[in-house]
Amino acid sequence: MFSGKRVRPLASYNLRKPARGNEMKKLTIIGSGPGGHMAAFAAARAGHSVTLVESAAVGGTCLHTGCIPTKTFKSSADALEKIRHMGNYAITGNADAAISMPELLARKKNVIGLLTTGLEKTCASLKITLVRGRGRVISAREVAVSTQEGTVLVEGDNVIIATGSRPLNLPSLPADHRHILNSDDALALDRVPASIAIVGGGVIGCEMACIFRSFGAQVTVIEGQDRLLPIPSVDGEMSKLLLREMKKAGIRVELGKTVSSATVEQGMAKLAVSPSRPKDDAPVEPAMLDVESVFVTVGRVPNTEGLGLDEAGITVSPRGWIQVDDCLQTSVPGVFAIGDVLGPEKIMLAHMASAEAEHVVAHLDAPTPCDYSVVPSAIFTTPEIGCVGLSEEQALAAGLPVRCTLLQVRELGKAHAMGEIAGVFKLVAHAENNTILGAHLCGPHATDLIAEAGLAIRMGASVEDVAHTIHAHPTLAEGFYELCHKAARP
Ligand code: FAD
Repeated sequence: MFSGKRVRPLASYNLRKPARGNEMKKLTIIGSGPGGHMAAFAAARAGHSVTLVESAAVGGTCLHTGCIPTKTFKSSADALEKIRHMGNYAITGNADAAISMPELLARKKNVIGLLTTGLEKTCASLKITLVRGRGRVISAREVAVSTQEGTVLVEGDNVIIATGSRPLNLPSLPADHRHILNSDDALALDRVPASIAIVGGGVIGCEMACIFRSFGAQVTVIEGQDRLLPIPSVDGEMSKLLLREMKKAGIRVELGKTVSSATVEQGMAKLAVSPSRPKDDAPVEPAMLDVESVFVTVGRVPNTEGLGLDEAGITVSPRGWIQVDDCLQTSVPGVFAIGDVLGPEKIMLAHMASAEAEHVVAHLDAPTPCDYSVVPSAIFTTPEIGCVGLSEEQALAAGLPVRCTLLQVRELGKAHAMGEIAGVFKLVAHAENNTILGAHLCGPHATDLIAEAGLAIRMGASVEDVAHTIHAHPTLAEGFYELCHKAARP
């Protein structure tokens, strides 16, 4: 019945004790985002002496301008959609609801405040020394910190750099923070612009498009590639479905287009939109688009200025991302780097930064390659997307015998009860041994549901393993079960 195989031990290290043979160390960590604070917590719990250096508020991009504020906005967008469609739920009353941005900003501030205080309390309870200031690496043994009171020298045995990233400012579309905004600006708006052009149809761009459309803006997404979410780990089927649903919601999507110029006149941004890859050499007249606000969501750059990387001998890529080996050690032995500062060659997600943190701390004495094979992605669009493992395209490119199975979300009773039937679940399995290679879920709560698929892949489960596991009814989790059931049938 159960395959009983385990490809990889799940507990490869103990989070509470240093790995066997590891000595107690003094660790200096620069940056307190999900990478830095998780490294600090893991190291302190393992008995190391930890100094955490942070130049801004504790929590990093994730807590202040990334994951948490966007998902706070998304919760309001979801609530608004429910109210607008209250008739579908047999609720009578006034469905003419609207978002109050000042109140949403107050709610966001409250959520961030609570979580920041929580992190600071955990630092205090774990006896982590928090130094407020900008860190500069001198060597694996020394970090200089510019604080309000002057420069402090922190000595130790190892350094972990976790300084993260910030929005990329495009020279052709520089943020003026009034009309041309980056994601930080968009999350601080105190009113909803009537019209928004979002340049970049990646994760942040698509999430913002869905949120601000629900808030009542006219939204146009401009993406240079020929699909939304042009990320290898996102299966093409999910991009197609999202495109359909975003269009249904009234979002205009321009694929294969780029903004060739932008000017701001009389309070409006005027964008020239051209094909990103013109078919022949004949010049194409750009289409003009006038909008109140432009959100530029085309990428990030590393926070490395003033870090002293050059002087310390730490190698960076041509675009400035810190270079590390498979064990996340930089070109200077004893100095590690984790999280967004490693750039898109690794995985720029909060949970990956935290996983890299735990990995480095657990293997300080004997650096070990970090495993990136099973990393889920959660994309908070409407509908949501959750992906883990290989996409169909990736599995085929790897030369694997692949069998894909699809399940429409409308096949689930719970989805009908919830009134949310848009979406498709896709399973990528090994055609010969039925091992689950990847799962790609688009539908309500897909970002939560993907966790089960991650565990299944991590444990080397087959479609039969899941199909023989009883799932509660009626739940959305039955979707993954049904998918595996379908795949297990001869
Ligand atoms: P950061 O979180 O950027 O933290 C770095 C910290 O280092 C900052 O606090 C900074 O002040 C500090 N620092 C920098 N330089 C110095 C210095 N010299 N001295 C001292 N301190 C310094 N990821 C997800 O997984 N899920 C999501 O839903 C998600 N949504 C996102 C939405 C948006 C709009 C954005 C922008 C990002 C989102 N991300 C999401 C990505 C996620 O925020 C990042 O992957 C994550 O924050 C990276 O963590 P980090 O620890 O590497 O760096």
